[in-house]
Amino acid sequence: MSQFDLVVIGSGPGGYVAAIKAAQLGLKVALVEKDNSLGGTCLNVGCIPSKALLHSTEVYQEALHGKKHGLVGAEKLTFDVSAMLANKDKVVAQLNMGVGALLKKRNVEIVRGLGRLVKSGEVLVRSTAGDRTLETKNILIATGSVPIELPFMKFDGETVISSDHGISLKAVPEKMVVVGAGAIGLELGSVWARLGSQVTVVEMLPVIGGPSYDADIAKAAQSAFEKQGIKFELGAKVTGVKKSAGGSALTAERDGKSLEFAADKILVAVGRKANTTGLGAQEAGLKLDERGRIVIDAHFLTNLPGVYAIGDVVAGPMLAHKAEEEGVAVAENLAGKHGHVNYAIIPGVIYTDPEVACVGLSEAEAKAKNIEVAIGKFQLAGNGRAIASDCTAGFVKVIACAKTDKLLGVQMVAKGASEMIAAACAHMEYGGSAEDVARTCFAHPTVSESFKEAAMAVSKSSIHSL
Ligand code: FAD
Repeated sequence: MSQFDLVVIGSGPGGYVAAIKAAQLGLKVALVEKDNSLGGTCLNVGCIPSKALLHSTEVYQEALHGKKHGLVGAEKLTFDVSAMLANKDKVVAQLNMGVGALLKKRNVEIVRGLGRLVKSGEVLVRSTAGDRTLETKNILIATGSVPIELPFMKFDGETVISSDHGISLKAVPEKMVVVGAGAIGLELGSVWARLGSQVTVVEMLPVIGGPSYDADIAKAAQSAFEKQGIKFELGAKVTGVKKSAGGSALTAERDGKSLEFAADKILVAVGRKANTTGLGAQEAGLKLDERGRIVIDAHFLTNLPGVYAIGDVVAGPMLAHKAEEEGVAVAENLAGKHGHVNYAIIPGVIYTDPEVACVGLSEAEAKAKNIEVAIGKFQLAGNGRAIASDCTAGFVKVIACAKTDKLLGVQMVAKGASEMIAAACAHMEYGGSAEDVARTCFAHPTVSESFKEAAMAVSKSSIHSL
């Protein structure tokens, strides 16, 4: 007889949320984690520590520029990096304990060690305490991802660093080059730029932010970051790193021309890859795709009976909330319910200042699908709260179907975009139209009113734009 209904391998947002949900629904669950702390990439080296550092450095920048708000001596303000790192570690530790407490409360058994998939129904857990075999009706693999290393410039933890190092630098590098203008590169680049590092972001594509954003949104974000001193070298292909007694430099080429950027630290943020190290995937016959991701069907089932996979280790956007949604859906399916993830409405956010956010289709994606669109835009410069709060950079863009007015997508560059995008997701989940948003009462004064105004602008009826 099986000891468990479900054994989850990996305690990131995918794994621990699935474990809690399954236990809530009456299943007997074990959660296997190889690291000392629970919470995975997201909690230990990803979402949370990066946001703690973004917050600390934003507090510093706001105070530094506080003269006009009556702060005396603000421009002479200094900071202590070690205190910022200590605060970040405290936040992470608090949440580590929180995840542990939630799992304990739901009677999820936490099994420490490296989980190995032996076959359907059997997981071997190896730890310094010895081996333990878990027999289970179902297995859920949520082993996440690790940073991608460029083959010609391996991480050395000193000059060439990953985001894992980039959230723990003991001192501010004089010059930092960030390879990759995606969310992680822009966020960590912002952290160190705010503390005085000369940051240059080198990106192969001609725009920042990745493929989900329209060019107008990417340009507005880039211009805001440039005003903060971040330099961008777009359309440049990285070729390597040069180390000499005089210092290090990143080498790149653009239009056949060689480029060189001096750097104390080169933060490589070119993406992440699925992690199946130590899982025994090959020996167990688990099917992986050409990028090493576990292949699943529409119900998260792998090619092995009773073995499921979710989160960063499978295809799809590598986002904590995507992993969580999948975790809930798998648990519900196993408990005889009808779990479902709406992949069309998964928001993406870059937590810079201003923040950049999107959900649904971009204008370019809608047009590529031959959908006739009606666009509404509203500049934050016309929003009262934005003016009162010194955050007029950016705009909100609503992409609606020209025939039906249905919301297809929403994109924005705005302070607080990470919160504002939730309203767009909710309207889209219910199949809302631009008019539905326009007729919704938003609290005044809020930056969120820019979303309502952008929705009104779809029918050229925005009140607060000229
Ligand atoms: P993970 O969080 O990677 O967790 C996998 C867990 O499995 C780990 O704890 C690992 O130790 C464990 N494990 C692996 N193999 C085994 C094994 N064989 N046995 C036992 N345990 C094992 N996403 C967002 O949505 N918003 C953000 O703001 C955001 N910011 C980020 C910032 C940074 C710097 C980084 C690096 C990532 C960020 N992400 C963000 C991405 C997010 O962290 C991931 O999408 C998310 O953590 C994926 O969750 P997961 O559960 O699939 O895997």
